[in-house]
This record gives sequence, structure tokens and C-alpha cells, in this order.
Amino acid sequence: MRLQITCIPGDGIGPEIVREAKKVLEKVAKVYGHEMVFTDILMGGASIDAYGVPLTQEAIETAKAADAVLMGSIGGDPTKSPWYQLPPDKRPEAGLLGIRKALNLFANLRPAVLYEELAAACPLKEEISKAGFDLLIMRELTGGLYFGERKTVVENGLRKAIDTLTYDEGEIRRIAIKGFDIARKRRKKVTSVDKANVLDSSRLWRKVVEEVAADYPDVKLEHMLVDNCAMQLVKDPSQFDVILTENMFGDILSDEASMVTGSIGMLASASLNDTKFGLYEPSHGSAPDIAGQDVANPIATVLSAAMMLRYSFDLDEEAKAIEEAVRQVLKDGYRTGDIFSEGMMRVGCSQMGDLLAERIR
Ligand code: NAD
Repeated sequence: MRLQITCIPGDGIGPEIVREAKKVLEKVAKVYGHEMVFTDILMGGASIDAYGVPLTQEAIETAKAADAVLMGSIGGDPTKSPWYQLPPDKRPEAGLLGIRKALNLFANLRPAVLYEELAAACPLKEEISKAGFDLLIMRELTGGLYFGERKTVVENGLRKAIDTLTYDEGEIRRIAIKGFDIARKRRKKVTSVDKANVLDSSRLWRKVVEEVAADYPDVKLEHMLVDNCAMQLVKDPSQFDVILTENMFGDILSDEASMVTGSIGMLASASLNDTKFGLYEPSHGSAPDIAGQDVANPIATVLSAAMMLRYSFDLDEEAKAIEEAVRQVLKDGYRTGDIFSEGMMRVGCSQMGDLLAERIR
């Protein structure tokens, strides 16, 4: 298969971690007989330095022409970098918002996996963490409260702020379909999270999700109120497979879920549109504090590349091979600094990439 991939190395540790992900993908291509064509584009600070803007139209067109986009991370240290002297729409993060919009990426996927070997980093009690967990938060990314009309007015001498939360059934249906499709590739369970005891938008959410569920009789659906879900994530995260939810609830729950894994350098993510196209990137930022030192953990980016193979190319076996390589490297005792513990072997970013690539056979 010919895979056309646009890469955005980005800023900080971005170029280092993307280089290792490419290394692993090239090994996958060799072992499984695929052709991978990589084209790099600039975004964020790197694009500001080269072109004066965080994202050019040409970069957008290159991304659109590919089958998928693999990204490192963008941004610098907001307290030190001159990029943050620019107006907000010219700063690195504007590039990310711009590309998400241009590519119509409405579904955000964040897996949270607790690896047995890293269980010590999990802040939960051992009796909870010992069951392990492997869940995925599917968050609606372009609607809801963050995109509703907002204003601040003065009424009767009092300042009053208004934010509006709207969802139409089309927006709910397309994310629900994504959620059920992805559950089919996993353990076939969807927990739809809402606040249907209070919000009209949640009541519509629940109805539409049930309508979509009728087309997926093999996937189990349950509903959960968001406050309960926040508790269940720390009480028993192993009960979850796919958590399907709207924008703001997903924003909060996905940070909570990543926190309970205890290791930021391990967390992948994806943003999808209604075709197979997606943008894949680690959940962490550009870590300017460790950039250029060859100490960053590339695993989150490598696992994002595995998600790309699974969701944009339907190459499930190849995706599993990458995930298995990650498990094997951890089992063999290799750790980058962020996940290092006594008795393990400390390796740098590029060595970690080599070790992962070696384990794709
Ligand atoms: P960060 O995730 O970059 O770093 C937080 C801490 O985690 C740092 O100590 C860093 O060294 C460490 N860390 C992060 N990733 C690591 C890895 N792979 N291996 C080892 N250690 C790692 O968050 P921050 O410091 O708040 O943000 C830095 C910059 O990244 C900011 O400009 C921010 O806007 C940007 N950012 C970008 C994205 C994105 O591109 N999607 C996401 C979040 C933050």
C-alpha cells in the first residue's frame, strides 16, 4: 500500500520525536511491504521564523493532499520566546487552530493506557491500578460551549457574561458514528457521557446517540452523567472502553484520564474528519525545556503513528506491531528520563527509536 503522509515536525522536541516516529514507520513499511512517502511542512514557531505566519496556505494544501498528517508539537516557552510578543492570531497555537479548522477535524481521540511496567507512575491506589486500563476518550472538537455565541453585557448596573451551548443533531450524529466505528476496532463498548438530567443539549445528545447505536447491535452502549464519569475514572478506569462526549466535558475528562496514567510522554492522540483523514500527534507539548538534548520520550508520537495506521489506513496488524514493540521495549527495561525508575536502563530519544524499530519484525 502507498501511504502519503504529511509531517509537521514543529517546534521544541517536535523534530526529534517525529524523526523517531518516521524511523519506526519506515521499519513497518519494510517489514509489511508498504511504501511511505513523507512530505514535511512548517507550522507554529518554525513557520513564523520562515514565513512570518504560523501556517501558510501552501502548508494547508500540502496537508490536504496527503492521506494523513503526523505532527510533533508546536510552541515555545511563552515567558521567553519572541513568538509570544506577536498578536494572538500570529502566535504558534494559531497554526494548530487553523489547520484543525481547514481540515474539518471534529473528532478528537485520546487513548489513556496504563502499562503494567509503568504502574508505579499511576497516582491511583494499587488495588485500582493493578487491573490496568486501556480507554479512549472521543471528544467532539468543533461545537458546543467553546464555539457558541458569547458576550458580556451590563444589566441593571451588573456585569453579566453569557456563553451559549448548542449542538444540532448532525454534529452529534457524525461524532457518534465515529465513536461506534472505533469501538468496533476495540472492545465494543461505548459510554456516552452527558448531563441529560439538566441540559437540553445533553438530552438531544442522548437521543441521537441511541439512534446511531441501533446500527451497531454488536457494540454495547451505556449512558453516564459527566459528574459520575469524573468519579468513575479514578474509582475504576478499567470499566471503560470508548468514552463518547461533547467538547467541554471531553476537554476536562481527557486531562483527568491522562493524569491517571502518570506518564505524559506516552500519550497519543488523533483528530479526525468524516473521511479516513486524520491528524495524529502526541498529547504533550513541545517541551522547550528539554529540546535539542536527545532526552525526549518519542513513544507518544510513535503510538500516534500507530493510531494513524489503524484509523486512516485500516492497517490494524501494523498498528498492533508498533504497540507490541512499545510493550516489549518497556518489558526489556528501557526508559527515557521521564519514565525512568531505579534498576532500568536509561536511553535517549534516538536510541529509543532504534529499540522500537528493532522490535518490529
Ligand atoms: P509540555 O507538555 O511541553 O511539557 C510539560 C512537561 O513535560 C515539561 O517538563 C516537559 O519537559 C515534559 N515533557 C513533555 N513531553 C515530553 C516528552 N515527550 N518526553 C519527556 N518529557 C516531556 O507542556 P508545556 O510546557 O505547558 O508547553 C510547552 C509548549 O508546548 C507551549 O508553547 C505550549 O503552548 C505548547 N503545547 C503544544 C501542544 C500542541 O502542539 N498540540 C499541546 C500542548 C502544549
